[in-house]
Amino acid sequence: MFLSKLRSLFLNEIYRKSANGSIKRLLKDQKHSPDEHRKWQMESLSETLVQAQKVPYYYKYLEGIEVYSYPEQILRELPILEKRNVLELGDQLINHEFKVRGIGTTSGSTGIGLKFFYDDYMLNNSEVLTRYYRSWYNVGVGDRGLKIWGRPLRGIKNKLHSNISNLLRGFKTIDPWNLTPENIAKNWKEIIEFNPEYVYGYATSIAALSKWVKANSLQEKAHKMSLKVIISTAETLFASDKKVIKEVFGCPVVEEYGAAEVSIIAFECPEGNLHISTSSLYLECVDDNGNLLPLDTPGHILVTSFVNKVQPLIRYRIGDYGTLLSAHCACGRGMPIMKLNGAKIIEMIKTENGRIFSAEILDYINLALLKDKNFGIKQFRVTQKTLKKFEIEVVPASNYSSESKSKFTNLFMEQIGDNNLSIIYIEKDKIQPMPNGKLLYFKSEIV
Ligand SMILES: [Zn+2]
Repeated sequence: MFLSKLRSLFLNEIYRKSANGSIKRLLKDQKHSPDEHRKWQMESLSETLVQAQKVPYYYKYLEGIEVYSYPEQILRELPILEKRNVLELGDQLINHEFKVRGIGTTSGSTGIGLKFFYDDYMLNNSEVLTRYYRSWYNVGVGDRGLKIWGRPLRGIKNKLHSNISNLLRGFKTIDPWNLTPENIAKNWKEIIEFNPEYVYGYATSIAALSKWVKANSLQEKAHKMSLKVIISTAETLFASDKKVIKEVFGCPVVEEYGAAEVSIIAFECPEGNLHISTSSLYLECVDDNGNLLPLDTPGHILVTSFVNKVQPLIRYRIGDYGTLLSAHCACGRGMPIMKLNGAKIIEMIKTENGRIFSAEILDYINLALLKDKNFGIKQFRVTQKTLKKFEIEVVPASNYSSESKSKFTNLFMEQIGDNNLSIIYIEKDKIQPMPNGKLLYFKSEIV
């Protein structure tokens, strides 16, 4: 109890104290009409375009243009920014009037790693959005949160940093990767002991935990936790899984749609609709050829972020497929709503010794590709043919060699925990997207 009070004091009064004012404003603003939200969003979009005039890459498109009257029309004249453009353009995308606070890396589901620069404003905004959206479910700062989330941490320094951060924020982290019954049983014991107030994590991992709880008739214990909410993220939450999770834990199960490079894009309200973070970004929906689609038509999502001033992402194709909706939500929040159409569908990797992994484990390989310039692989996609056989499609870089393949093989086998796999490489100029327009980096052909 004392620890929880101390933690709340620390988070509210010291750590990112400036977040409190912004959260209050968002809570007040959400009651305003959709028209009002649109007006504010256009103001932010104009500001973003003004800042973009100082970015070398955008200067040639925006030089001398007065952006305030028709920001949407001006935006639509700008090129779509692909993930590979962000990597290739490098310094051309940097606004040197702002200070770089750090460099983030992410891979998402497209199999292309991304390195992005961020400033202090972006860090603060992520904190504001996280706290604001969780407050819809009475989750306060310092509440005990169970994170079923994260990559395997390497090194004592990283582990220590993560432990201290968890302690200060009131989190417990559970490894989401290894979903065998033995491992889930071990996790369950720890979860009961920790007694979380809410859960945050990968859809597949939360679903696997819920199915295990159900199979072992432990629903009563799960209900007793009285969770305020379960927040699923990073992967598609299938309706059937959502139903099981809800039934097992007896609490709201909601989706958070976000990405490291643009923070939370949309969040599900108690009415079941994903409200767009219009205070932080502007969304468009385009077809395969980049043509703008009307509302209520599914397409590729483009994000224009208002918050990262040091490296603006404008009309950035995030790699998800969704629909911007014209309907308003019955909950009364004025921010527009959207739907995801199979975004980040992740299938499971299965191994001969019965282990099952979420394909997000391939993130680790993606990050290794990013960090090591000599790796020689630009993009990849893994197809599981049998329990022992994997096919890896790769788009080679100029320094691609047999060493690139052996490095990839080693990393892959290390992640899967099986050294006796048959791995075949197929070099390609381009990896074709799946029929729904997505470039998934894993698919399984095992039924
Ligand atoms: Zn709503």
